[in-house]
Amino acid sequence: MALNLADLNEPQRKAVLHEGGPLLVLAGAGTGKTRVITHRVAKLIESGVPADRILAVTFTNKAAGEMRKRIADLTGGTGAAVWVHTFHSFACRLLRRHHEKLGLGRNFTIYDEGDQKRTIVEAMKILGLEKEKNKAGMYVHIISRAKDDLLDAGSYEIHAMTSPDPARQTAARIYAVYQRKLSEAGALDFGDLLLKVCELLRNHSDVRDYYQKLFLHVLVDEYQDTNHTQYVLTRTLAGLHRNLCVVGDDDQGIYSWRGANIRNILEFESDFSDAKVVTLEQNYRSTARILEAAASVIKYNKNRKSKTLWTEKTAGEPIEVRELPNEIEEARWVVARIREFVGEGRSLRDIAVFYRTNAQSRSFEEALTAARMPYVIVGALRFYERKEVKDVLAYARVLVNPGDSAALGRIVNVPPRGLGKTSLDTLGHFAREHGVPLYEALKRAPEVPGLTPACRRAAQRFLELLEHLRAQAASRPPSAGLELIVEAGGMREWLERETETDPEAAGRLENIQELINASKDYEVQLAEAGETADLARYLSEIALQSGIDAYDAATPVVTLMTVHLAKGLEFPVAFLTGLEEGLFPIGSNATPAGLEEERRLCYVGMTRAREHLCLTGAATRRLFGTVFGNLPSRFIFEAQLAQGGTVMSPGPAKPLPPPRAASRALAAGARVGMRVRHPSFGFGKITETSGSGETAKVTVRFDDGRTTKLLVRYAPLEPA
Ligand code: ATP
Ligand code: MG
Repeated sequence: MALNLADLNEPQRKAVLHEGGPLLVLAGAGTGKTRVITHRVAKLIESGVPADRILAVTFTNKAAGEMRKRIADLTGGTGAAVWVHTFHSFACRLLRRHHEKLGLGRNFTIYDEGDQKRTIVEAMKILGLEKEKNKAGMYVHIISRAKDDLLDAGSYEIHAMTSPDPARQTAARIYAVYQRKLSEAGALDFGDLLLKVCELLRNHSDVRDYYQKLFLHVLVDEYQDTNHTQYVLTRTLAGLHRNLCVVGDDDQGIYSWRGANIRNILEFESDFSDAKVVTLEQNYRSTARILEAAASVIKYNKNRKSKTLWTEKTAGEPIEVRELPNEIEEARWVVARIREFVGEGRSLRDIAVFYRTNAQSRSFEEALTAARMPYVIVGALRFYERKEVKDVLAYARVLVNPGDSAALGRIVNVPPRGLGKTSLDTLGHFAREHGVPLYEALKRAPEVPGLTPACRRAAQRFLELLEHLRAQAASRPPSAGLELIVEAGGMREWLERETETDPEAAGRLENIQELINASKDYEVQLAEAGETADLARYLSEIALQSGIDAYDAATPVVTLMTVHLAKGLEFPVAFLTGLEEGLFPIGSNATPAGLEEERRLCYVGMTRAREHLCLTGAATRRLFGTVFGNLPSRFIFEAQLAQGGTVMSPGPAKPLPPPRAASRALAAGARVGMRVRHPSFGFGKITETSGSGETAKVTVRFDDGRTTKLLVRYAPLEPA
């Protein structure tokens, strides 16, 4: 398909044809913001801008892949050289090129959250804070947020010193040691990728000049979700030519918990006084009813730029709202409804189920499996996060970078070789005492105090194995390197032996095979682009993949994902589930600002739907082993206002599920000792009552042994 400006409406065309200088496209969901970016890039190329002097930044690798394809379609292939990246993959590309300027090895490792935690615990041990080990996750979070705000360890310490909060001072000490450990390991965490690239551009004027001259145009999608570090990076890159085009929607900012700063979009005009602002108002995605409902929800946010959205589409089908007795019934209803959609001739790939938290996917998985309906969970336990896959990759990381202590710590005893936790602790202690990486401690095992002779021998053999693998893997493509690890490293033999006693070991072997196959695909892809693959680059590409990348729109399956991951996507049919107070909006985000973010998240979810939107919730829900009685989400009420009495289908109209007759009867007469019946949990006895009226609760001990507290108003309990 070639570029045709008739495919655009007037304001879109204005944005695409905008000559130069800062440009902000601020517009609601589905108005064609992403389309503006792809068309603008194509137009620039058509008018003579060399493709490799344009940088387009998106939010996920998946989105980057789609954008690359769209640009190639629009430009007849000449757009292939455009720099289309996520912020992280862009940073990685620059750091690999200029690593020596930062004193970084070319083969630096990228640490994921698990590695970060391991390293934080290491740092805590060094500081004598091991008693606080259970707070490692919190410190990972604090340090990551600091990096989002462009605060390196030194700057963070200055901030912390003036803070009355002692936790910040502890965090500052941990941060400093953590960075030292990372640098010893030749590793960067996600936040570092961006921080270091900013440092590179700030401290090396030759590099900065080069890229500022190079990029004639910089375009950023989903600008509302950029953090401060990304903001500085963007400004720097566009600093010379000032051809910066950012598109976003303040109503869809959903990553403030990860440091995103919605001010970046709201203050664009004051940052760039000559900025041109284009607003788009026509939505091309959703039916009028869906759009109205979404608008009526987001209207409740105070902190936003108000905007109008309209569509030429018809009203469309009514939005369905269903409150089910519990999460099992909710999933069953969704599956039954999906079956009806399929009966009407829809493909499963048209249908998506969204939820607020990953834990909610399980009931949908079970219901879909029972109905023999294929599905894919986007972003659940990612393939590359499976233990056996991570183990093999940890070997590869150590081969590429022996200083990678987090990876080495992972595989010291995988497969088991007589170097259990005690030996690892002893080696780790030695490494800390001497300020050397774990690999060095392994080398010096003969002089490490406290190791048994058997352990010393095991350490020696392990070291020889690693050196052997390293020598062999160096000259081979990634897939051959991985095969070597699996075969010569003993992983295959070990798992094959395990299959005799562990039924899951066979699945693990398959996953490892799948990993090798995937690395072969990667080599083929690179070969087609005229490049050769090496293990170090392969590892960083994997580290940068996010859950959404596994999603393949070509396969006819139902898509399950969290609302966060649904950003930017669209589906003909969408179910937004778990709409309950405490879950969506989630209870942990109960501040006024947090609630506004939850509302934006709901808005993102609703505006993914093109033709059908179903909102569901459950009166009681088992989450993390406890049953909660939840009230319907306020978002359901908010959505209905503009609908003037939404017709709910299937089934009779009901503005909100009224308290069930049986429950009402129960509410009046609930007393301790009374026998009751619950449709899912069966029979039981009330052991406690509390509250009254709306908030009356009962504790029921069911005959199967479980004890549950339920809200009388919503629990489908009947006197038995
Ligand atoms: P989001 O806010 O969800 O990221 P967006 O503003 O980026 O949405 P797009 O994804 O670019 O919107 O477009 C939404 C849908 O509308 C797409 O299916 C797109 O192809 C279609 N669309 C956009 N502009 C036009 C147009 N001028 N004519 C026809 N279809 C259009
Ligand atoms: Mg978009």
